[in-house]
Amino acid sequence: MFVGMGAAKVRDLFKQADEKAPCIVFIDEIDTVGKKRDGGGFAGNDEREQTLNQLLAEMDGFDGRKGVVILAATNRPDSLDPALLRPGRFDRRIPVELPDLKGREDILRLHAKNIKISDNVDFNAVARAASGASGAELANMINEAALRAVRDGRKYVTQADLEESVEVVIAGYQKKNKVLTTKEKLIVAYHETGHALVAAMQTNSAPVTKITIIPRTSGALGYTMQVEENDHNLMSREELENRIATLTGGRVAEDLVFHSITTGASNDIEQATKVARAMITRFGMSDEFGMVAMETVNNAYLGGDTSLACSEATAGKIDAMVVDLVGRSYKKAEKIISENMPKLHELAKYLYERETITGDEFMDILNKKPETETAQLSDTTA
Ligand code: ZN
Repeated sequence: MFVGMGAAKVRDLFKQADEKAPCIVFIDEIDTVGKKRDGGGFAGNDEREQTLNQLLAEMDGFDGRKGVVILAATNRPDSLDPALLRPGRFDRRIPVELPDLKGREDILRLHAKNIKISDNVDFNAVARAASGASGAELANMINEAALRAVRDGRKYVTQADLEESVEVVIAGYQKKNKVLTTKEKLIVAYHETGHALVAAMQTNSAPVTKITIIPRTSGALGYTMQVEENDHNLMSREELENRIATLTGGRVAEDLVFHSITTGASNDIEQATKVARAMITRFGMSDEFGMVAMETVNNAYLGGDTSLACSEATAGKIDAMVVDLVGRSYKKAEKIISENMPKLHELAKYLYERETITGDEFMDILNKKPETETAQLSDTTA
């Protein structure tokens, strides 16, 4: 609210606070006025600096006994002027991070109070599936579930509504009218089964809870959902390597079955590369570099973009190591799928027919004794 209005507005704000005490002054997006001031003053923004100076002056002169609490919020605490954070000003920080499992469950329950919901809903299961979701996304999930119940003419939100709404928020709506050719659907079925098979055959890999080949509005043609049993804060080197192998599993299955590869793996490639790079440059999980940071995280609050902090020669070496790590994971996935070819065909066929299968169905087929004949699905594209 301050931008362009200057120091006078700040004075007025504190005057009002003084009159209305006890009260709370809340400044949202404080970084718009509270950015670090330029040392040189060459490209300085006079208007903004005056506003900031006024804010600092007002905060110093404020009588704490009057019962005025000054709060501010920002997504960029690292960009704030240090003067703002000195004792007597904004001297207490409360980081608001993404909610953990317990937090997600509580947030879901809180928002669910406003809607009619069936008694036997397992909020814990929904919270587990919504790993990594923010408070706003969780609120949205409850809203989506309510809309779905209304659309279906039901009076109560059910577990199925909530599970579907988690997917809607994560992956977008089901695109029921999206036409995939038979061949494409078959490729997607093998691709997703490839991911799930590699995940299931590795120890220390989150269990598969659902596989679907119903296209979503986000552009995903299918996906494999893995849900950790508990909240996971530490990832071991082995788990990360397994994750990369699981990500390559889709492409591996396509290549082994159809002997041609598609663009369907683009997102997998992006993610696998990201994990591999982070292992080498940030987590100290390479034998060559050990515990040396090659990359620094600029802002842990907003997505955490990184910048390289090493020589050009090292950067080249890192690239080669990323290629090597992903390549080794690909070989590992290839080995797993080759050794389980009959299961791949059986599972892909089942998924192709059902379009969505649960983790339990998947594990049942996987653990069942091999059938004598599991013919490979034939390509029946007209
Ligand atoms: Zn994939």
